[in-house]
Amino acid sequence: MRIDLHTHSTCSDGTDRPGELLAKAQAAGLDVVAMTDHDTTAGWLESENSLPDGMTLIRGAEFSTQEARPGGGTMSVHLLGYLFDPVDPAIMTEQARLVAERRGRGIAIVDNMRADGVPITVERVLEIAGGAPVGRPHIGRALVEAGLVSSVTEAFAGYLSGRGAYYVPKIDTDLDHAVAMIGAAGGVSVLAHPWGRGAGSVLTPDRLAALAAAGLHGIEVDHPDHDEPTRRTLRGLAGDLGLIVTGSSDYHGHNKTLELGQDLTAPESLARIVDASSKVVAPIGPVAA
Ligand code: AMP
Ligand code: FE
Ligand code: FE
Ligand code: ZN
Repeated sequence: MRIDLHTHSTCSDGTDRPGELLAKAQAAGLDVVAMTDHDTTAGWLESENSLPDGMTLIRGAEFSTQEARPGGGTMSVHLLGYLFDPVDPAIMTEQARLVAERRGRGIAIVDNMRADGVPITVERVLEIAGGAPVGRPHIGRALVEAGLVSSVTEAFAGYLSGRGAYYVPKIDTDLDHAVAMIGAAGGVSVLAHPWGRGAGSVLTPDRLAALAAAGLHGIEVDHPDHDEPTRRTLRGLAGDLGLIVTGSSDYHGHNKTLELGQDLTAPESLARIVDASSKVVAPIGPVAA
């Protein structure tokens, strides 16, 4: 069974509509796909309504969270939530806050660029986002359209870099709070790419142990941002701490150079995720039966 538990559609910063994404997943030979758009469950209904025969859908989201840095400031950490109640009041309130936060912050980044003579507009970026929570990849597409870079990935190395002149941070949810919030909504929390892109500096083995004790269910070990030694170490830690190990592509359509099913989750891990959920929200499709 081929299981990919982390993908993004046009409901956040991917480029395929949920239905297109699921059709491509079926063509790629996947049996189970999780829809995990950033800070929203807006794609759940279309995913359910366009689920190809024989496939199983896991409804989820990728929560934007933050963790204090020992030297001061914060580090962004992504937390996958699966099978949580989408109308849980705490989650709805926090997602609404983040959607507004993302919009204001996206506009501020574009304003910084425009003040420096970069010829893109807020209107075009919001049009590209198409009502989805605004993310840097949407600004990246505007930069590609303006001929300033040849790809979104190239934009991230310069214009959109977190260390660049135009960057504006957003205020994310405290990580401990997000773990508790997902658990209280009957869901299952899995740290996304914990040692990719710098987060490893705050997500130390001791911190992972504390998070596991506080209700974190799993960690995404097999992710394109993790090399083999990183995966081996994380797999060992997960074993020691009783955490569920997952693997996924983090597919974003044309916004990233990743293929659906590039990394996969074992069926035993999926079974543990379903078992750990309150079952108020269940998988849809053959695996649920
Ligand atoms: P934001 O959430 O607005 O801070 O933007 C971060 C998002 O940009 C991540 O969720 C990824 O989807 C995407 N991203 C980060 N780094 C890269 C990169 N190097 N190339 C393409 N997309 C990236
Ligand atoms: Fe993304
Ligand atoms: Fe992520
Ligand atoms: Zn992601």
